[in-house]
Amino acid sequence: MKEIETYFRYLRTIGVEFIEPGPFSAAPSACGDLEEIGQEVAACTACGLHKTRIQTVFAGGSPSSGLMFVGEAPGADEDEQGKPFVGRAGQLLTKMIEAIGFRREDVYIANVLKCRPPKNRDPLPDEVAACEGYLKRQIAAVKPVIICALGTHAAHTLLRNDTPISRMRGRIYNYEGVPLIPIYHPSFLLRSPANKKEAWEDLQKLRDEYWRLKKKPDNG
Ligand code: SF4
Repeated sequence: MKEIETYFRYLRTIGVEFIEPGPFSAAPSACGDLEEIGQEVAACTACGLHKTRIQTVFAGGSPSSGLMFVGEAPGADEDEQGKPFVGRAGQLLTKMIEAIGFRREDVYIANVLKCRPPKNRDPLPDEVAACEGYLKRQIAAVKPVIICALGTHAAHTLLRNDTPISRMRGRIYNYEGVPLIPIYHPSFLLRSPANKKEAWEDLQKLRDEYWRLKKKPDNG
């Protein structure tokens, strides 16, 4: 009960006044060859990170909604559990997803890198280059309605630019024909709670754009 109270207090602090009900049933849409890609990732030794990982972290959730989140790389908790966004930042991401009316299990969550960089350092260009093909194949299989890039590294990798996230956030970009909105990474929001208001504005934009696109006949 206390946890629920804390959650609603948090929602109020980021400006949430109501929560929409989740619109999805448990049935996932076709997910192409995601399983096959995951098996390739599990055995991958294409960059030096395979030497220090406990295990690979391929993805979480489901492609059923067509809403896809892309983060940077696994951290310590993710490396241990083999799932993306399970630490404190992951808990905040779950709340952000729920605040716009989705269940975490209905959205697809992946990272640019599938193995943890030591001491959570930034991804190196050769690691991104070695790993990016998996993410591209995941996106091709998921066929997202819209992508939300979480933080600087995901936005820079997908959009091939180096614009500060503070200038990119909340804007709609195009990733190979798929709309993409960068927002602040949940880890940054934990360090900088003052930016949660902006993050909430961006999340509402993501939600509104998602539903606008879903009404198009080719997005079911
Ligand atoms: S980070 Fe990516 S490219 Fe590097 S070993 Fe892991 S799965 Fe392979």
